[in-house]
Amino acid sequence: METVETLLGSCVHKALERLYDGRLRGRRMSLAEVLAEFDAAWDGGWSDAVVIRDPSCGPQPQREAGRDCLRWYYEAYSPFDGDQTLGVEKRLGFPLEAGGATVRIEGIIDRLAQTPDGAYAVHDYKTTANLPTQAELDADWQLGIYDIAVRRAWPSAREVALVWHFARFRRSDESRRSQAQRRELLERLAALVSEILGDHRHAPRRGQLCGWCEYRDLCPLWAAAESLRGLSPARLKSDEGAALAGRYAELEAARHRLKDDLRRLELEIEALERDVVAFAEGRGLRGEAAGGAGESVLALACPEGELVVSRKDGYRVPSRAHFPELCEAIEAQLRAAPLWKEAAHLDLHRVMERYERGEWDAESRAAIERVLGEHQGHFAAACKTAVRFHRRKEPESE
Ligand code: SF4
Repeated sequence: METVETLLGSCVHKALERLYDGRLRGRRMSLAEVLAEFDAAWDGGWSDAVVIRDPSCGPQPQREAGRDCLRWYYEAYSPFDGDQTLGVEKRLGFPLEAGGATVRIEGIIDRLAQTPDGAYAVHDYKTTANLPTQAELDADWQLGIYDIAVRRAWPSAREVALVWHFARFRRSDESRRSQAQRRELLERLAALVSEILGDHRHAPRRGQLCGWCEYRDLCPLWAAAESLRGLSPARLKSDEGAALAGRYAELEAARHRLKDDLRRLELEIEALERDVVAFAEGRGLRGEAAGGAGESVLALACPEGELVVSRKDGYRVPSRAHFPELCEAIEAQLRAAPLWKEAAHLDLHRVMERYERGEWDAESRAAIERVLGEHQGHFAAACKTAVRFHRRKEPESE
């Protein structure tokens, strides 16, 4: 799945690849030529299938952002003779023993170079709108793996600089790894590979990043929906899943309308109740304290029945249905008080969800396991099914 952001990144990479390919053959491209390469790549890659997740970052601003990235890079590094390019889009790798198997770890280095003092430099171009911290760069696996691959390919390499060019931020950052850091990375990589080799389930977890994920067409969660992307409404109607989702959307919209009507009705009733109370107070809320100490009552009659207004000392409590945020804020305030243990409602669903995810500490896990043992019948393994409708935000037309 191509998004407008990934298209921007690949077009910038392509233009820089051409630039350094030219340098390898002794030719220096002008900025206009580099931008023309970018434009050609963009025009070749653009289609209606390119996904725009954020309508405020449509194709034109992204295209301009890509051209700006290249302008900055060109001005910062022209005439491109500070080092010797050894390869562009250079594939390097090494074998790794993990989980009882030998696997090959491979990567493609945007540009590999050597400085006049003999040091190697791994260059990586980034066009993302996020700027990592130095600590994040020092812990970055991708270029850390390239570092190892370069040293395996050229065992005489003493220095390997890892260089990121964050073109949107008009800056380059660098990191170097010690032997101990490389050893640790290899150990962690081997542990991850063995975990992957031993894990035959893919349990996708829906989250905020799904909207930006490039693997939606492969992900079990989204693959079916992705396969329908771009189909005409007529073709969509003939798909059983799309028809069910469409019907759900209609009912969901009807439910929203009913809820709105209900809310309006409740507001009207609340306003009417205020009028009734004011009226009753005007009449001195007559009637004896029939409901016990502190309560007085007034009945208003009409042909359909009686409206009873009562007043009793005490507190009214905001309802969670009408004031969910207020109730949450109140709960947060009460949580620190000793009464919370007595009054709080223990949400067993959440407790078990967190247990399944292995999030509890050893003591809590032991307590849950005791409960599971004692109340086996109530905790039978079950297939949990939830159905919710999420309306897709339609991009605003330009
Ligand atoms: S789309 Fe699938 S693979 Fe991608 S982040 Fe979401 S759950 Fe994970």
